[in-house]
Amino acid sequence: MALTIGVDVGGTKIAYGVVDEHGAILERGLRHSPAGSPEKMALTIADAVTELAARHSVEAVGIGAAGFVDETRSIIRFAPNLAWREEPLREKVGELVGLPVVVENDANAMAWGEYRFGAGRGESHVVCVTVGTGIGGGIVLGGELYRGRWGMGAELGHMQAVPGGRACGCGNSGCWERYASGSALLMEARNNAQADPAGAAHLLRLGGSVEGIQGEHVTEAARQGDRAALAAFESLAGWLAQGLADMAAVLDPGCFIIGGGVSGAADLFVDRVREEFAARLTGRGHRPLAEIRVAEMGPAAGLVGAGDLARLR
Ligand SMILES: [Zn+2]
Repeated sequence: MALTIGVDVGGTKIAYGVVDEHGAILERGLRHSPAGSPEKMALTIADAVTELAARHSVEAVGIGAAGFVDETRSIIRFAPNLAWREEPLREKVGELVGLPVVVENDANAMAWGEYRFGAGRGESHVVCVTVGTGIGGGIVLGGELYRGRWGMGAELGHMQAVPGGRACGCGNSGCWERYASGSALLMEARNNAQADPAGAAHLLRLGGSVEGIQGEHVTEAARQGDRAALAAFESLAGWLAQGLADMAAVLDPGCFIIGGGVSGAADLFVDRVREEFAARLTGRGHRPLAEIRVAEMGPAAGLVGAGDLARLR
C-alpha cells in the first residue's frame, strides 16, 4: 500500500496526516503554525513528518501552502499571510526528512482532493472555488491540475469583477473576492443592518451592534429569516454566479465545486447560485449546464490532495 504524508500549512495551524491511495487519512495531527519564521516553519513541518514517518512506511510528502508556488513546485515565491519570500521549502524540508517532497498551492491541493475523492469524483473538468475570508481556487482540466506557465494560475478571487471597485489586499481594486467571499458577506450584512435596523432584528440581537455582527451571526440570522442577513446571502449568490458564468465562458467545466468556510452555509445560497448561473451563462439554452456542487471533504481536502499529489509526483 502506497502511503504518503499530506501537510496543509495555513496562517494559524498546520494540519498533517498519513494518506492512502483511496484518500483515507490513517493518522493525523495538528500543530501551531510559526507563521512569522520560515526557519521554524520548515523545522515544524519536518518534525511533524518525522513523527508520522516513524510509525508508517511513507514514500513521499506533499505540502499544500497558502502562497504563490513556482512551476517546479519547489519554491514559495510569496505568501500574503506568512513570512515566506522566495522560500525553497521543498529543498529545506526534503533535506530534513530524507523523503521526496512536493509543494503545492493550498487551494490547488484542496481542489485536487475534491476532484479525486470528493465532490468532483467521476468528472474530468472541474473548477473548485474556495469561499472563505477571500476566494481561492483550483482548476482540473482533462484530469490534470492546471497550474499555468509559472505556477500562478487559478487565483480566481482576483479576477476584476468591478472596475474601480472595492480595494483588495492584492493591491488591485474590484477583485471578485471583495464581493463574493465570506468577508464580503459580512460587510454586506453589516451595511444592511445599518441601513435598515428594523429588518435586521436577529442580526443585531446576535451581534449586539452593527460592528459586533460576526460571520456566524449572518448564517444564524438568515436561518431565522432575518431580512438583512438573507439579502446578504442573495448578494453573495449573485456575485458567485456571475464569476462562475465568466469562468464557464472560458473553461467550460463539467462541474464547479464550492468549498471553503462559507460552503458550510451552502443550503442558504447554492440553489440561488445555480439559478443565477443558468440565467447568466453565455450560450445558455444551447449548451449543457455545468453542475454546481458543494465540497464534501471539508478542511481535510487540502491535506488529502497534497498527499495524493505527492504520490503522483
Ligand atoms: Zn485582489
